[in-house]
Formats: sequence, C-alpha cells, structure tokens
Amino acid sequence: EVRVRFAPSPTGNLHVGGARTALFNYLFARSKGGKFILRIEDTDLERSTKKSEEAVLSDLTWLGLNWDEGPDVGGDYGPYRQSERNALYKQYAEKLLESGAVYRCFCSNEELEEMKERAKQMQLPPVYMGKWATASEAEIEAELAKGTPFTYRFRVPTDGFLKINDLIRGEVNWNLNTLGDFVIMRSNGQPVYNFCVTVDDATMHISHVIRAEEHLPNTLRQALIYKALGFPMPTFAHVSLILAPDKSKLSKRHGATSVGQFKEMGYMPQAMVNYLALLGWGDGTENEFFTVDQLVEKFTLERVNKSGAVFDSVKLKWMNGLHLRSLPQDELVQIFEDRWKSVGILVDSDGNFAKEATELLMDGIDLIPEADTALSNMLSYPLHSTLNSAEGKSIVQDKLSEVAASLISAYDSGELLEALNEGHSGWQKWVKSFGKSLKRKGKALFMPLRVLLTGKLHGPDMGGSISLIYKAGQCGAVNLQSG
Ligand code: GLU
Repeated sequence: EVRVRFAPSPTGNLHVGGARTALFNYLFARSKGGKFILRIEDTDLERSTKKSEEAVLSDLTWLGLNWDEGPDVGGDYGPYRQSERNALYKQYAEKLLESGAVYRCFCSNEELEEMKERAKQMQLPPVYMGKWATASEAEIEAELAKGTPFTYRFRVPTDGFLKINDLIRGEVNWNLNTLGDFVIMRSNGQPVYNFCVTVDDATMHISHVIRAEEHLPNTLRQALIYKALGFPMPTFAHVSLILAPDKSKLSKRHGATSVGQFKEMGYMPQAMVNYLALLGWGDGTENEFFTVDQLVEKFTLERVNKSGAVFDSVKLKWMNGLHLRSLPQDELVQIFEDRWKSVGILVDSDGNFAKEATELLMDGIDLIPEADTALSNMLSYPLHSTLNSAEGKSIVQDKLSEVAASLISAYDSGELLEALNEGHSGWQKWVKSFGKSLKRKGKALFMPLRVLLTGKLHGPDMGGSISLIYKAGQCGAVNLQSG
C-alpha cells in the first residue's frame, strides 16, 4: 500500500516550496489510491509554535490537500506530532543500544571540541574519534555509577558505501568513511531529528518519502538507522529546489513566497495547485492547464524533473486568470457580485448589472480583487452627474470643443491622414504630439478623442480602431454601412 507523508516543521508559514512537496505527496497518494499522512515535526520546541501549526493546516486545507491521517483527524499510527512520541523514540533507542547499533558516549563537550580541533589540524573530516565506541563493559559501568551524562551515539560502519535508488535523482551513493558516529539521543533524553524521522517513517509504514533535495544528507543517516532497526527501507524521491527568476534560492526578497500571502492577494487555490504542480513536473505535452482531478490522473514521480524549478509570479498570476475564466459564467458573476457588494461598489442586486459588468471586465483581469478596481475605474467617469448640471455640461463642452477644434485643424491640414497612412505606428506618433500640443495625456486626451472619433465612450484599443476605420475607408473591401 502506498503511504506518503508531508512532515512540516511548524516554525513559520507554509511556503511555496513546502506546499509543492505536500502537493506532490498528495498527488502521488491519490493517483495510487494510497494514504496521505500529515505529521507535525515539532521536535525543535523553541522554534515550533501552535500558531504556525494552525496556519500550516489551514493553508493545506485551503489548497484542498486533505490528509487521511494527522494530528487533528487521528489514524492508526498516531500520535502525529513528534513532541507526543517521545516514549516511542526512547523505546527504539534502547533497542538499538541492546543490539549494539548505538553505544553510550560519555564524552564531555570539551572533549568533543578538542577532538574536532585535532581532526582539523590533521586535516581529517570532523568525525567522532572518542573511545566510547570500543569501551569495555567495566569502563561503561564506572561512568554509569558516577552518574556521568551520556548521549546515544550511532555506530556508523567505517568501510564501504551506502546507495539508494532515488525515484527522481537515480542512484545516489555515499562514502561512509567521512560521516562519523552521530548522536541520536542527547544526554537530556531528547531524541535527535534524524532519529525521530526514521522511527516515525518506519512505524507509520511510510512507503515513499517524497521531500526536498536539501534533505539528502539526512537521508544517509536515516537509511543507516533504518537498517539498524531492521525496517524495510522506503523508496526515496528528492524534489529539486525552487529558484527565483535570477536562479538564486527563492526567498522573501523575491516578493510573496508563502501560501497565505497569495491567498490574501486573491489567488484561487486551484490556480495555485496547478502552478505548483508545474514546478518541476509536466505531463510531457505543451499543456499547462490542469484541474486537480487531471493532475491526480496524470501525475507520476518519474516525470518530476531533477533540475531546479523557477518560481515565476507573473506566470502564476496569468494562470490564475486562466482558472478564473474557466469557471462557469454564473459562478463568476456570483463571485463578482458578492465581492462588489462586500466592498460597497454595488448596493443592491440590480438585474443584469453584475452579469454585464463581469462580461465586460473579466478578460482584462487575472485576480478576483482586480475586478474591483476595474469596475470602479470604469464607473468613475461621472457621466450622469456631470451632464446633469449646467457647470458639468459646460466643462464637457469646453473639453470636447478644445480637442475638437484641434482635431479638425489636424484633419484639414492633412496631418492626421498622413499619419494614418502610416498605419498604427503613424497614429501613435501623431497622437503623442497631438496630446503634447494640448498638454493632455491619458484619459484627458483619449476620452474626448474617442468620443469625437467613434461616438462612443468605450471600445477596443483606439489606435487599432482608428487605423482599421481608416484602412476600411481606403481599401473599399468593407461595407461601411453595416453595423
Ligand atoms: N520537517 C522537515 C521540514 O519541514 C521535513 C522532513 C522530511 O520530510 O523528512 O523540512
């Protein structure tokens, strides 16, 4: 049976890297009809917080990555928080002590420091060179009688290699002679991270360990502990790093990196999931749009790329637009109507208003909140209130007539037609200098021009329209009477 786990350390928010690891585990489990397990790795009691655990759980839920076993839902192999599993770690540490796979190390910190210093001087790797690996029963008994504190140190075989077959990276080989005997339980009885992970993965019957590449050095230690415990080794799959567009490691200085931030900005979970899946995976075609169900159907670890994946927030936003526009029309209208009401742009449902506004605006936006600005910008032209007063009327008239007079003279002098003869770019050049001479730009220039030239307040890109209208008149291929 496939059993995979996502094992966050609750020391901060869920970042896109962690979310992608969770997603790959989730997709793998669902595609194999297996189980997806959530385990909280809170052995670092100083840095772990309840608040962070809650945030991680709520972000995963928002993404739709629901787990089958975990701290909140329980399961047959709990507890699912490392801080609640100390008795189990202790039990397995004793087992390893009995079998001789670990030994008690009574070295003081000073002695260990000296050893390190000596190794450095001899240009050797900083491996444990103390006597406790080979101490006699009597020596051990003597220290125990004195009450000297001790750690549990894992006896690493000094010769040979350790090899795993990583589903993503292929064969990974380590030379064991530089590792050195490592501590699995501190003198205060606190088990060490790699030991906890191994005991957990083994006792939770994890079949595949899918996690970030940066854990590869841990895998070596964990694999040795696995062997010593006599548990079957899981299959490993180490996923590459997520990089910033400049190929450096993605970090806060590159902008938003946590799932919560994207959620707050109005991103949709289905777009996040789709985009995260593409960070190192593809179905082998050009297709990039996937629903979760499609991902479950197509996902395989063999297709996960071993080189780093670039996180491109521009593409994520574009992808959100795709997912937004793929919603059924009435769902979309409902989303926007609710939103516009909640932000106070709409006071009441008024017939088809939300529907028409949605149709008009949705091609130009990628994120739901962008619809607010788009709508209020559009509505900010005070058509009614402006034309409803004598003052407003005269302002509109003045504005229009100022532009109109210049426009007419540009036509009469032939300057406008000459520009249009050069097509779209001719128009662009002309309109720029035209605006300059009137000291107008942006809306103040284009609104009156649009009204004067097209008779409408809104429409497609004006330069494009005017060039097209001009061309239509020139080529005679278009029936100008129509429409
Ligand atoms: N707790 C580790 C982390 O958050 C994950 C360890 C693992 O997946 O083995 O990076």
